[in-house]
Amino acid sequence: MQGLMQTWPLTVDKILDHANNWHGDREVVSRSLEGPIVRTTYGAIHERAKRLSNALLALGVSNGDRVGTLAWNTGRHIEAWYAIMGIGAVCHTLNPRLFADQLCYIMNHAEDRIIFVDLPFLPILWEHRERLPKVEKIIVMTDRDHMVEATYPGALCFETLVEQHSPDVVWGEFDERTAAALCYTSGTTGNPKGVLYEHRSTFLHTLVSLQADAMGLSSRDSILAVVPMYHANAWGLTFSAPAAGAKLVLPGAKMDGASIFELLETEHVTFSAAVPTVWQMLLQHMRANSLRPSKLKRVVIGGSAVPEALVRAFRDDYGVEVVHAWGMTETSPLGTLSSPNAAVAAMEPDERLYYSLKQGRPPAGIELKLTDDDGNLLPHDGTTFGRLKVRGPFVVGAYFRGEGGNILDDEGYFDTGDVATIDELGYMQITDRAKDVIKSGGEWISSIEIENIAAGHPKATLAAVIGVHHPKWEERPLLLVKLNEGETATREEFLAFLDGKIAKWWMPDDVVFVEEIPLGATGKIDKKLIRQRMEGYVLPTAAAVPAQ
Ligand code: AMP
Repeated sequence: MQGLMQTWPLTVDKILDHANNWHGDREVVSRSLEGPIVRTTYGAIHERAKRLSNALLALGVSNGDRVGTLAWNTGRHIEAWYAIMGIGAVCHTLNPRLFADQLCYIMNHAEDRIIFVDLPFLPILWEHRERLPKVEKIIVMTDRDHMVEATYPGALCFETLVEQHSPDVVWGEFDERTAAALCYTSGTTGNPKGVLYEHRSTFLHTLVSLQADAMGLSSRDSILAVVPMYHANAWGLTFSAPAAGAKLVLPGAKMDGASIFELLETEHVTFSAAVPTVWQMLLQHMRANSLRPSKLKRVVIGGSAVPEALVRAFRDDYGVEVVHAWGMTETSPLGTLSSPNAAVAAMEPDERLYYSLKQGRPPAGIELKLTDDDGNLLPHDGTTFGRLKVRGPFVVGAYFRGEGGNILDDEGYFDTGDVATIDELGYMQITDRAKDVIKSGGEWISSIEIENIAAGHPKATLAAVIGVHHPKWEERPLLLVKLNEGETATREEFLAFLDGKIAKWWMPDDVVFVEEIPLGATGKIDKKLIRQRMEGYVLPTAAAVPAQ
Protein backbone atom coordinates (compact mmCIF):
# COMPACT_ATOMS: atom_id res chain seq x y z
CA MET A 1 0.00 0.00 0.00
CA GLN A 2 1.32 3.44 -0.90
CA GLY A 3 1.37 6.23 1.67
CA LEU A 4 -0.71 9.34 1.27
CA MET A 5 1.66 12.19 1.97
CA GLN A 6 2.37 15.15 -0.30
CA THR A 7 4.74 15.12 -3.20
CA TRP A 8 7.38 17.75 -2.46
CA PRO A 9 10.50 17.26 -4.57
CA LEU A 10 13.65 17.62 -2.47
CA THR A 11 15.35 20.32 -4.54
CA VAL A 12 18.04 22.56 -3.05
CA ASP A 13 16.47 25.85 -4.17
CA LYS A 14 13.94 25.21 -1.37
CA ILE A 15 16.79 25.48 1.14
CA LEU A 16 17.54 29.06 0.08
CA ASP A 17 13.79 29.80 -0.13
CA HIS A 18 13.55 28.68 3.49
CA ALA A 19 16.48 30.86 4.54
CA ASN A 20 14.90 33.82 2.72
CA ASN A 21 11.45 33.27 4.27
CA TRP A 22 12.47 32.58 7.84
CA HIS A 23 16.00 33.91 8.26
CA GLY A 24 16.06 36.63 5.60
CA ASP A 25 18.01 39.10 7.74
CA ARG A 26 20.64 36.59 8.88
CA GLU A 27 24.05 37.75 7.73
CA VAL A 28 26.43 36.24 5.22
CA VAL A 29 29.86 37.84 5.63
CA SER A 30 32.69 37.42 3.13
CA ARG A 31 36.29 38.50 2.89
CA SER A 32 36.01 39.70 -0.68
CA LEU A 33 38.64 39.09 -3.34
CA GLU A 34 38.79 42.85 -3.85
CA GLY A 35 39.86 43.22 -0.21
CA PRO A 36 37.12 44.58 2.08
CA ILE A 37 34.75 42.56 4.25
CA VAL A 38 31.36 42.43 2.51
CA ARG A 39 28.11 41.95 4.41
CA THR A 40 24.92 40.66 2.90
CA THR A 41 21.92 38.56 4.02
CA TYR A 42 20.14 35.39 2.94
CA GLY A 43 17.32 37.63 1.70
CA ALA A 44 19.65 39.62 -0.57
CA ILE A 45 21.47 36.50 -1.74
CA HIS A 46 18.14 34.91 -2.65
CA GLU A 47 17.10 37.87 -4.77
CA ARG A 48 20.46 38.30 -6.47
CA ALA A 49 20.73 34.57 -7.21
CA LYS A 50 17.33 34.75 -8.91
CA ARG A 51 18.50 37.68 -11.05
CA LEU A 52 21.56 35.68 -11.98
CA SER A 53 19.38 32.70 -12.94
CA ASN A 54 17.67 34.97 -15.46
CA ALA A 55 21.07 36.05 -16.76
CA LEU A 56 22.02 32.40 -17.27
CA LEU A 57 18.72 31.66 -19.02
CA ALA A 58 19.33 34.66 -21.29
CA LEU A 59 22.75 33.17 -22.14
CA GLY A 60 20.96 30.01 -23.26
CA VAL A 61 21.74 27.80 -20.24
CA SER A 62 19.15 25.09 -19.84
CA ASN A 63 18.40 22.05 -17.71
CA GLY A 64 21.39 19.71 -17.42
CA ASP A 65 23.98 22.16 -18.81
CA ARG A 66 27.20 22.31 -16.82
CA VAL A 67 28.30 25.68 -15.48
CA GLY A 68 31.72 25.83 -13.81
CA THR A 69 32.86 27.92 -10.87
CA LEU A 70 36.55 28.63 -10.27
CA ALA A 71 36.36 30.56 -7.05
CA TRP A 72 37.02 30.90 -3.33
CA ASN A 73 34.28 30.93 -0.70
CA THR A 74 32.34 34.20 -0.94
CA GLY A 75 28.73 35.39 -1.01
CA ARG A 76 28.94 35.81 -4.79
CA HIS A 77 30.00 32.19 -5.14
CA ILE A 78 26.90 31.14 -3.18
CA GLU A 79 24.73 33.30 -5.42
CA ALA A 80 26.24 31.62 -8.48
CA TRP A 81 25.56 28.15 -7.02
CA TYR A 82 21.90 28.69 -6.29
CA ALA A 83 21.42 30.57 -9.59
CA ILE A 84 22.76 27.56 -11.48
CA MET A 85 21.07 24.80 -9.47
CA GLY A 86 17.72 26.61 -9.17
CA ILE A 87 17.13 26.36 -12.92
CA GLY A 88 18.19 22.71 -13.15
CA ALA A 89 21.67 23.36 -14.54
CA VAL A 90 24.66 21.62 -12.95
CA CYS A 91 27.12 23.56 -10.83
CA HIS A 92 30.61 22.23 -11.49
CA THR A 93 33.04 23.37 -8.79
CA LEU A 94 36.64 23.62 -9.99
CA ASN A 95 39.63 23.47 -7.68
CA PRO A 96 41.88 26.46 -8.47
CA ARG A 97 44.85 24.70 -6.86
CA LEU A 98 44.98 22.14 -9.67
CA PHE A 99 47.48 22.48 -12.51
CA ALA A 100 46.20 24.06 -15.71
CA ASP A 101 46.38 20.73 -17.58
CA GLN A 102 44.18 19.02 -14.99
CA LEU A 103 41.72 21.92 -14.98
CA CYS A 104 41.46 21.84 -18.77
CA TYR A 105 40.93 18.08 -18.73
CA ILE A 106 38.14 18.41 -16.15
CA MET A 107 36.38 21.33 -17.87
CA ASN A 108 36.48 19.53 -21.20
CA HIS A 109 35.32 16.25 -19.69
CA ALA A 110 32.40 18.04 -18.02
CA GLU A 111 31.75 20.15 -21.14
CA ASP A 112 31.27 23.29 -19.08
CA ARG A 113 29.48 25.95 -21.18
CA ILE A 114 30.02 28.89 -18.86
CA ILE A 115 32.61 29.53 -16.17
CA PHE A 116 32.20 31.83 -13.19
CA VAL A 117 35.67 32.96 -12.18
CA ASP A 118 37.26 34.98 -9.38
CA LEU A 119 39.50 37.84 -10.55
CA PRO A 120 42.81 36.21 -9.52
CA PHE A 121 42.13 33.13 -11.67
CA LEU A 122 41.03 35.05 -14.75
CA PRO A 123 44.51 35.36 -16.34
CA ILE A 124 45.18 31.61 -16.21
CA LEU A 125 41.72 30.76 -17.53
CA TRP A 126 42.16 33.30 -20.32
CA GLU A 127 45.58 31.94 -21.24
CA HIS A 128 44.13 28.46 -21.77
CA ARG A 129 40.78 29.40 -23.33
CA GLU A 130 41.80 28.02 -26.76
CA ARG A 131 42.01 24.58 -25.13
CA LEU A 132 38.43 24.87 -23.88
CA PRO A 133 36.29 24.75 -27.03
CA LYS A 134 33.01 24.16 -25.14
CA VAL A 135 33.32 27.21 -22.91
CA GLU A 136 31.14 29.92 -24.46
CA LYS A 137 31.24 32.64 -21.81
CA ILE A 138 33.27 33.68 -18.82
CA ILE A 139 31.57 35.55 -15.99
CA VAL A 140 34.00 37.47 -13.78
CA MET A 141 32.83 37.53 -10.17
CA THR A 142 33.42 41.21 -9.54
CA ASP A 143 31.92 44.68 -9.95
CA ARG A 144 32.25 47.13 -12.82
CA ASP A 145 35.10 49.05 -11.20
CA HIS A 146 37.27 45.96 -11.12
CA MET A 147 36.25 44.69 -14.51
CA VAL A 148 39.09 44.66 -16.98
CA GLU A 149 37.21 44.38 -20.23
CA ALA A 150 39.99 45.76 -22.39
CA THR A 151 42.24 42.78 -21.68
CA TYR A 152 39.46 40.22 -21.69
CA PRO A 153 37.07 41.10 -24.52
CA GLY A 154 33.74 39.32 -24.19
CA ALA A 155 34.14 38.47 -20.50
CA LEU A 156 30.98 39.37 -18.57
CA CYS A 157 30.75 41.24 -15.27
CA PHE A 158 28.86 39.48 -12.45
CA GLU A 159 27.47 42.67 -10.93
CA THR A 160 26.34 44.02 -14.29
CA LEU A 161 24.40 40.81 -14.95
CA VAL A 162 22.76 41.02 -11.51
CA GLU A 163 21.73 44.64 -12.21
CA GLN A 164 20.43 43.93 -15.70
CA HIS A 165 18.09 41.03 -14.93
CA SER A 166 14.85 40.69 -13.02
CA PRO A 167 14.47 38.44 -9.96
CA ASP A 168 11.30 37.02 -11.44
CA VAL A 169 12.15 33.41 -12.16
CA VAL A 170 10.73 30.02 -11.24
CA TRP A 171 13.13 27.72 -9.42
CA GLY A 172 12.80 23.98 -9.01
CA GLU A 173 9.71 22.18 -10.34
CA PHE A 174 11.83 19.41 -11.78
CA ASP A 175 12.48 15.86 -10.67
CA GLU A 176 14.33 15.64 -7.36
CA ARG A 177 16.84 13.25 -8.86
CA THR A 178 17.96 15.94 -11.35
CA ALA A 179 21.72 16.54 -11.19
CA ALA A 180 22.59 19.60 -9.10
CA ALA A 181 26.37 19.64 -8.81
CA LEU A 182 29.48 18.02 -10.18
CA CYS A 183 32.78 17.60 -8.37
CA TYR A 184 35.83 15.70 -9.59
CA THR A 185 37.80 13.53 -7.19
CA SER A 186 41.40 14.47 -6.51
CA GLY A 187 42.50 11.77 -8.92
CA THR A 188 45.50 10.38 -7.07
CA THR A 189 45.21 7.40 -9.41
CA GLY A 190 44.37 7.86 -13.10
CA ASN A 191 42.35 10.78 -14.39
CA PRO A 192 40.00 12.64 -12.05
CA LYS A 193 36.47 11.22 -12.02
CA GLY A 194 33.26 13.21 -11.71
CA VAL A 195 30.79 12.69 -8.86
CA LEU A 196 27.38 13.97 -9.97
CA TYR A 197 25.27 14.98 -6.96
CA GLU A 198 21.49 15.10 -7.21
CA HIS A 199 19.12 17.62 -5.67
CA ARG A 200 17.64 14.80 -3.58
CA SER A 201 20.99 13.41 -2.43
CA THR A 202 22.16 16.92 -1.50
CA PHE A 203 18.94 17.72 0.36
CA LEU A 204 19.16 14.44 2.33
CA HIS A 205 22.85 15.06 3.07
CA THR A 206 21.88 18.48 4.41
CA LEU A 207 19.29 17.02 6.79
CA VAL A 208 21.70 14.33 7.94
CA SER A 209 24.54 16.79 8.50
CA LEU A 210 22.29 18.81 10.81
CA GLN A 211 21.88 15.84 13.22
CA ALA A 212 23.22 16.70 16.69
CA ASP A 213 25.88 13.97 16.50
CA ALA A 214 26.88 15.14 13.02
CA MET A 215 27.48 18.90 12.51
CA GLY A 216 24.68 19.78 14.95
CA LEU A 217 24.13 23.30 13.55
CA SER A 218 21.50 25.73 14.79
CA SER A 219 20.12 29.16 13.91
CA ARG A 220 22.18 30.54 16.84
CA ASP A 221 25.48 29.47 15.26
CA SER A 222 27.90 31.68 13.40
CA ILE A 223 29.65 29.33 10.99
CA LEU A 224 33.04 29.96 9.43
CA ALA A 225 33.21 27.75 6.33
CA VAL A 226 36.95 27.49 5.78
CA VAL A 227 36.70 24.27 3.82
CA PRO A 228 36.48 25.41 0.20
CA MET A 229 33.25 25.18 -1.77
CA TYR A 230 35.20 23.20 -4.40
CA HIS A 231 36.15 20.57 -1.80
CA ALA A 232 33.04 18.36 -1.77
CA ASN A 233 30.69 21.35 -1.55
CA ALA A 234 32.34 22.84 1.54
CA TRP A 235 31.29 19.63 3.31
CA GLY A 236 27.70 20.73 2.74
CA LEU A 237 27.94 23.93 4.82
CA THR A 238 26.65 26.16 2.05
CA PHE A 239 23.43 24.13 2.22
CA SER A 240 23.26 23.31 5.94
CA ALA A 241 23.95 26.89 7.14
CA PRO A 242 20.99 28.41 5.24
CA ALA A 243 18.86 25.36 6.13
CA ALA A 244 19.54 26.04 9.82
CA GLY A 245 19.36 29.83 9.45
CA ALA A 246 22.87 30.18 10.84
CA LYS A 247 25.11 33.16 10.14
CA LEU A 248 27.65 32.22 7.49
CA VAL A 249 31.18 33.61 7.35
CA LEU A 250 33.34 33.03 4.25
CA PRO A 251 37.10 33.58 4.22
CA GLY A 252 37.66 34.31 0.50
CA ALA A 253 41.28 33.64 -0.44
CA LYS A 254 42.83 34.14 2.99
CA MET A 255 43.21 31.04 5.12
CA ASP A 256 46.36 31.92 7.08
CA GLY A 257 46.23 31.89 10.88
CA ALA A 258 45.95 35.66 11.31
CA SER A 259 43.13 36.09 8.77
CA ILE A 260 41.15 33.16 10.18
CA PHE A 261 41.60 34.38 13.75
CA GLU A 262 40.41 37.85 12.78
CA LEU A 263 37.17 36.45 11.32
CA LEU A 264 36.63 34.17 14.32
CA GLU A 265 36.67 37.19 16.58
CA THR A 266 34.99 39.93 14.56
CA GLU A 267 32.14 37.65 13.46
CA HIS A 268 31.67 35.85 16.81
CA VAL A 269 32.17 32.48 15.15
CA THR A 270 30.91 29.50 17.17
CA PHE A 271 31.52 26.69 14.68
CA SER A 272 34.00 26.03 11.92
CA ALA A 273 35.22 23.24 9.64
CA ALA A 274 38.51 22.69 7.82
CA VAL A 275 41.35 20.25 7.13
CA PRO A 276 44.04 19.78 9.85
CA THR A 277 46.65 22.02 8.15
CA VAL A 278 44.40 25.08 8.50
CA TRP A 279 44.02 24.45 12.22
CA GLN A 280 47.77 23.94 12.64
CA MET A 281 48.32 27.39 11.13
CA LEU A 282 45.70 28.92 13.42
CA LEU A 283 47.22 27.30 16.51
CA GLN A 284 50.69 28.56 15.59
CA HIS A 285 49.33 32.07 15.16
CA MET A 286 47.42 32.01 18.46
CA ARG A 287 50.42 30.66 20.36
CA ALA A 288 52.88 33.11 18.85
CA ASN A 289 50.62 36.05 19.72
CA SER A 290 49.09 34.81 23.01
CA LEU A 291 45.56 34.91 21.59
CA ARG A 292 42.47 32.84 22.35
CA PRO A 293 39.17 32.60 20.49
CA SER A 294 36.36 34.01 22.61
CA LYS A 295 33.22 32.43 21.10
CA LEU A 296 34.43 29.33 19.21
CA LYS A 297 32.81 26.16 20.64
CA ARG A 298 33.27 23.41 18.09
CA VAL A 299 35.39 22.61 15.06
CA VAL A 300 34.90 19.77 12.61
CA ILE A 301 38.21 18.52 11.29
CA GLY A 302 38.46 16.05 8.46
CA GLY A 303 39.88 15.37 5.02
CA SER A 304 42.87 13.68 6.64
CA ALA A 305 43.50 12.21 10.07
CA VAL A 306 43.55 14.59 13.03
CA PRO A 307 46.79 14.47 15.03
CA GLU A 308 46.39 13.98 18.78
CA ALA A 309 48.35 17.14 19.54
CA LEU A 310 45.75 19.18 17.67
CA VAL A 311 42.80 17.76 19.61
CA ARG A 312 44.62 18.25 22.91
CA ALA A 313 45.55 21.86 22.09
CA PHE A 314 41.99 22.81 21.16
CA ARG A 315 40.47 20.99 24.12
CA ASP A 316 42.96 21.78 26.88
CA ASP A 317 44.33 25.18 25.87
CA TYR A 318 41.26 26.78 24.30
CA GLY A 319 38.20 24.81 25.51
CA VAL A 320 37.11 24.02 21.96
CA GLU A 321 35.53 20.66 21.11
CA VAL A 322 37.00 18.85 18.11
CA VAL A 323 34.74 16.60 16.06
CA HIS A 324 36.82 14.40 13.81
CA ALA A 325 35.04 13.54 10.56
CA TRP A 326 35.72 11.18 7.70
CA GLY A 327 34.26 11.37 4.25
CA MET A 328 35.03 11.67 0.60
CA THR A 329 33.83 13.46 -2.52
CA GLU A 330 31.96 10.23 -3.29
CA THR A 331 29.96 10.42 -0.03
CA SER A 332 28.77 14.05 -0.43
CA PRO A 333 31.05 14.06 1.78
CA LEU A 334 29.98 13.19 5.35
CA GLY A 335 30.54 9.51 6.15
CA THR A 336 31.37 9.27 9.86
CA LEU A 337 31.91 11.62 12.78
CA SER A 338 33.57 10.99 16.12
CA SER A 339 30.99 12.62 18.43
CA PRO A 340 30.83 10.73 21.73
CA ASN A 341 28.02 8.20 22.14
CA ALA A 342 26.63 7.49 25.62
CA ALA A 343 29.36 4.96 26.45
CA VAL A 344 32.19 7.27 25.36
CA ALA A 345 30.65 10.32 27.04
CA ALA A 346 30.79 8.45 30.36
CA MET A 347 34.56 7.85 30.08
CA GLU A 348 37.48 9.77 31.58
CA PRO A 349 38.83 12.61 29.37
CA ASP A 350 41.88 10.67 28.14
CA GLU A 351 39.83 7.64 27.19
CA ARG A 352 37.38 9.92 25.40
CA LEU A 353 40.28 11.44 23.53
CA TYR A 354 41.20 7.99 22.24
CA TYR A 355 37.76 7.77 20.58
CA SER A 356 37.82 11.30 19.26
CA LEU A 357 40.99 10.43 17.34
CA LYS A 358 39.08 7.73 15.49
CA GLN A 359 37.08 8.77 12.43
CA GLY A 360 33.84 7.89 14.19
CA ARG A 361 30.34 6.53 13.68
CA PRO A 362 28.02 6.82 10.70
CA PRO A 363 24.89 8.96 11.05
CA ALA A 364 21.52 7.47 10.01
CA GLY A 365 21.67 7.53 6.21
CA ILE A 366 25.09 5.89 5.88
CA GLU A 367 25.74 2.13 6.00
CA LEU A 368 29.28 0.79 6.48
CA LYS A 369 30.87 -2.61 6.20
CA LEU A 370 34.39 -3.96 6.54
CA THR A 371 35.55 -6.78 4.27
CA ASP A 372 38.68 -8.63 3.23
CA ASP A 373 39.91 -8.55 -0.38
CA ASP A 374 37.40 -11.30 -1.31
CA GLY A 375 34.43 -9.42 0.08
CA ASN A 376 34.04 -11.53 3.28
CA LEU A 377 32.79 -9.57 6.29
CA LEU A 378 35.37 -8.87 8.99
CA PRO A 379 34.74 -8.54 12.73
CA HIS A 380 34.18 -5.22 14.49
CA ASP A 381 36.90 -5.87 17.06
CA GLY A 382 38.91 -2.68 16.69
CA THR A 383 42.02 -4.50 15.47
CA THR A 384 41.16 -6.34 12.24
CA PHE A 385 42.02 -4.16 9.21
CA GLY A 386 39.80 -4.37 6.16
CA ARG A 387 38.40 -2.55 3.18
CA LEU A 388 35.85 0.06 4.14
CA LYS A 389 32.69 -0.02 2.01
CA VAL A 390 29.78 2.36 2.15
CA ARG A 391 26.18 2.60 0.94
CA GLY A 392 23.44 5.21 1.22
CA PRO A 393 21.25 7.76 -0.60
CA PHE A 394 24.07 10.30 -0.88
CA VAL A 395 26.86 7.89 -1.82
CA VAL A 396 28.06 7.72 -5.44
CA GLY A 397 26.34 5.08 -7.60
CA ALA A 398 28.45 5.60 -10.75
CA TYR A 399 30.98 8.18 -11.93
CA PHE A 400 30.06 10.80 -14.52
CA ARG A 401 30.05 9.37 -18.04
CA GLY A 402 30.50 5.86 -16.60
CA GLU A 403 34.23 6.26 -15.92
CA GLY A 404 35.53 3.28 -13.98
CA GLY A 405 32.56 1.07 -14.98
CA ASN A 406 30.55 -0.63 -12.24
CA ILE A 407 31.88 0.68 -8.95
CA LEU A 408 29.46 -1.10 -6.59
CA ASP A 409 29.60 -4.64 -5.18
CA ASP A 410 26.72 -7.13 -5.32
CA GLU A 411 25.06 -5.50 -2.33
CA GLY A 412 25.38 -1.99 -3.77
CA TYR A 413 28.32 -0.91 -1.57
CA PHE A 414 31.04 1.42 -2.85
CA ASP A 415 34.64 0.48 -1.98
CA THR A 416 36.14 3.65 -0.50
CA GLY A 417 39.75 2.60 -1.13
CA ASP A 418 40.35 3.19 2.57
CA VAL A 419 41.59 0.54 4.98
CA ALA A 420 39.97 0.70 8.40
CA THR A 421 39.03 -1.01 11.65
CA ILE A 422 35.66 -0.81 13.42
CA ASP A 423 35.58 -1.34 17.19
CA GLU A 424 32.97 -2.84 19.52
CA LEU A 425 31.44 0.60 20.16
CA GLY A 426 31.00 1.15 16.43
CA TYR A 427 33.87 3.63 16.00
CA MET A 428 35.60 3.36 12.65
CA GLN A 429 39.29 4.19 12.33
CA ILE A 430 41.06 4.72 9.05
CA THR A 431 44.41 3.01 9.12
CA ASP A 432 45.40 3.93 5.59
CA ARG A 433 44.53 4.42 1.97
CA ALA A 434 44.66 0.94 0.41
CA LYS A 435 47.55 2.11 -1.76
CA ASP A 436 49.51 3.70 1.11
CA VAL A 437 49.29 0.87 3.61
CA ILE A 438 52.74 -0.64 4.22
CA LYS A 439 52.95 -4.35 3.56
CA SER A 440 55.66 -5.79 5.77
CA GLY A 441 56.20 -9.54 5.97
CA GLY A 442 52.60 -10.28 4.97
CA GLU A 443 51.16 -7.93 7.64
CA TRP A 444 49.87 -4.38 7.24
CA ILE A 445 51.34 -1.33 8.93
CA SER A 446 49.32 1.89 9.13
CA SER A 447 51.34 4.79 7.76
CA ILE A 448 48.79 7.27 9.13
CA GLU A 449 49.09 6.07 12.70
CA ILE A 450 52.88 6.43 12.76
CA GLU A 451 52.85 9.86 11.12
CA ASN A 452 50.23 11.18 13.53
CA ILE A 453 52.31 10.20 16.53
CA ALA A 454 55.51 11.54 14.96
CA ALA A 455 53.76 14.84 14.13
CA GLY A 456 53.12 15.22 17.87
CA HIS A 457 56.88 15.53 18.54
CA PRO A 458 57.44 19.09 19.77
CA LYS A 459 60.13 19.70 17.13
CA ALA A 460 57.97 18.52 14.19
CA THR A 461 55.82 20.69 11.93
CA LEU A 462 54.67 17.82 9.73
CA ALA A 463 55.45 14.12 9.35
CA ALA A 464 54.80 11.59 6.59
CA VAL A 465 55.38 7.85 6.41
CA ILE A 466 55.73 5.81 3.23
CA GLY A 467 56.54 2.17 2.53
CA VAL A 468 59.96 1.64 0.92
CA HIS A 469 61.05 -1.55 -0.79
CA HIS A 470 62.88 -4.00 1.44
CA PRO A 471 64.49 -7.19 0.12
CA LYS A 472 63.41 -9.31 3.06
CA TRP A 473 60.12 -7.79 4.29
CA GLU A 474 58.75 -6.49 0.95
CA GLU A 475 58.23 -3.00 2.42
CA ARG A 476 59.32 -1.16 5.55
CA PRO A 477 58.23 2.25 6.90
CA LEU A 478 60.31 5.34 6.25
CA LEU A 479 59.51 8.44 8.32
CA LEU A 480 59.96 11.89 6.78
CA VAL A 481 59.89 14.88 9.12
CA LYS A 482 59.70 18.59 8.46
CA LEU A 483 61.11 20.30 11.55
CA ASN A 484 59.93 23.61 12.98
CA GLU A 485 61.71 26.68 11.62
CA GLY A 486 65.39 26.75 12.71
CA GLU A 487 65.12 23.42 14.60
CA THR A 488 67.57 20.52 14.51
CA ALA A 489 66.99 16.91 15.58
CA THR A 490 68.39 13.40 15.25
CA ARG A 491 66.91 10.22 13.89
CA GLU A 492 67.30 8.66 17.37
CA GLU A 493 65.19 11.36 19.04
CA PHE A 494 62.25 10.53 16.79
CA LEU A 495 62.63 6.78 17.15
CA ALA A 496 62.77 7.15 20.95
CA PHE A 497 59.63 9.30 20.78
CA LEU A 498 57.78 6.53 18.91
CA ASP A 499 59.10 3.77 21.17
CA GLY A 500 56.32 2.33 23.30
CA LYS A 501 53.63 4.13 21.31
CA ILE A 502 53.59 1.71 18.37
CA ALA A 503 54.35 -2.00 17.95
CA LYS A 504 58.09 -2.77 17.69
CA TRP A 505 57.75 -4.13 14.16
CA TRP A 506 56.03 -0.87 13.08
CA MET A 507 59.16 1.16 13.97
CA PRO A 508 60.38 3.09 10.90
CA ASP A 509 63.61 1.70 9.51
CA ASP A 510 64.87 5.23 8.97
CA VAL A 511 64.06 8.90 9.58
CA VAL A 512 64.78 11.57 6.98
CA PHE A 513 64.53 15.30 7.68
CA VAL A 514 63.13 17.23 4.73
CA GLU A 515 62.62 20.89 3.84
CA GLU A 516 59.12 20.28 2.57
CA ILE A 517 56.35 17.71 2.83
CA PRO A 518 54.30 18.26 -0.31
CA LEU A 519 50.56 18.80 0.04
CA GLY A 520 48.03 18.05 -2.70
CA ALA A 521 45.30 20.32 -4.04
CA THR A 522 42.99 19.75 -1.06
CA GLY A 523 45.68 20.11 1.61
CA LYS A 524 46.47 16.42 2.11
CA ILE A 525 49.96 14.96 2.22
CA ASP A 526 50.84 14.01 -1.35
CA LYS A 527 52.26 10.51 -0.87
CA LYS A 528 52.44 9.88 -4.60
CA LEU A 529 54.87 12.79 -4.98
CA ILE A 530 56.84 11.77 -1.89
CA ARG A 531 57.22 8.25 -3.30
CA GLN A 532 58.45 9.73 -6.58
CA ARG A 533 60.95 11.94 -4.75
CA MET A 534 62.21 9.05 -2.63
CA GLU A 535 62.46 6.64 -5.54
CA GLY A 536 65.64 4.58 -5.34
CA TYR A 537 66.08 5.35 -1.65
CA VAL A 538 67.81 2.43 0.08
CA LEU A 539 66.96 1.81 3.73
CA PRO A 540 69.97 1.21 5.99
CA THR A 541 68.33 -2.08 7.01
CA ALA A 542 67.99 -3.10 3.37
CA ALA A 543 71.60 -2.33 2.59
CA ALA A 544 72.53 -4.72 5.42
CA VAL A 545 70.66 -7.64 3.83
CA PRO A 546 72.96 -9.59 1.49
CA ALA A 547 71.77 -9.62 -2.14
CA GLN A 548 70.10 -12.89 -3.05
P1 AMP B 1 38.47 13.58 -1.02
O1 AMP B 1 37.45 12.94 -1.86
O2 AMP B 1 39.49 14.36 -1.79
O3 AMP B 1 37.86 14.38 0.08
O4 AMP B 1 39.33 12.43 -0.31
C1 AMP B 1 38.70 11.43 0.45
C2 AMP B 1 39.74 10.64 1.18
O5 AMP B 1 40.41 11.44 2.16
C3 AMP B 1 39.18 9.47 1.97
O6 AMP B 1 38.90 8.36 1.17
C4 AMP B 1 40.28 9.24 2.98
O7 AMP B 1 41.35 8.49 2.43
C5 AMP B 1 40.79 10.64 3.26
N1 AMP B 1 40.16 11.14 4.48
C6 AMP B 1 39.10 11.95 4.60
N2 AMP B 1 38.85 12.23 5.90
C7 AMP B 1 39.78 11.58 6.62
C8 AMP B 1 40.07 11.45 8.01
N3 AMP B 1 39.35 12.09 8.92
N4 AMP B 1 41.11 10.69 8.37
C9 AMP B 1 41.87 10.04 7.45
N5 AMP B 1 41.66 10.12 6.14
C10 AMP B 1 40.63 10.87 5.72
